[in-house]
Amino acid sequence: MNLVIFGPPGAGKGTQSKFIATKFNMYQLSTGEFLRKEMSKNTQIGKKISTVINSGSLVSDQIVSDLIEKVISNNEYRSRIIFDGYPRNLNQAKNLENLLKKYDQKIDIVLKLSVSLETIKKRISERRTQEKRPDDIEKIAIKRFETYEKSTEPIIEYYKKLNLLKVVDGERPIDQINNEISDIISSI
Ligand code: AMP
Repeated sequence: MNLVIFGPPGAGKGTQSKFIATKFNMYQLSTGEFLRKEMSKNTQIGKKISTVINSGSLVSDQIVSDLIEKVISNNEYRSRIIFDGYPRNLNQAKNLENLLKKYDQKIDIVLKLSVSLETIKKRISERRTQEKRPDDIEKIAIKRFETYEKSTEPIIEYYKKLNLLKVVDGERPIDQINNEISDIISSI
């Protein structure tokens, strides 16, 4: 089973992905975490990525596509990938479908964590004190939310039409969300 998890910044994608990965023996492919690692290396490409991330925009489709193909083509992760933070726009959604086809795989489920802007602001300011992510300052977090609404939300319709979408209320306590997600995955 391959799974896509998405939702606005601060919706809890990372937390829920880690839970799913452990419980269902899956591999969490977080494009954001990968990009932050690349940034911390301070290479030429790392510096480029850093400028984009810290402006709240999206990194180029090509950079992220190369990364996900490496994982999809690796037999070790075959049909047990959680796409955490990919796709982020329609072009990426189509690319993901094509790449999975190329390696004879598919998406089995798309989870959307729905959370209000108020909750997001609160969570992101809490996370900033803990993780010190430079893109978590409020101004950039709001830009990331706008990027999400403009580029990422439209994918929801795409997955709805494919009958893959499950919307989960991400406002509730973490363990309640864990339980609902477990039930959804177990029912597939
Ligand atoms: P995240 O950790 O998922 O919140 O991602 C942090 C930042 O990494 C985003 O605001 C984007 O700038 C960048 N990023 C992560 N995933 C992608 C993606 N699939 N495409 C483009 N940029 C991405």
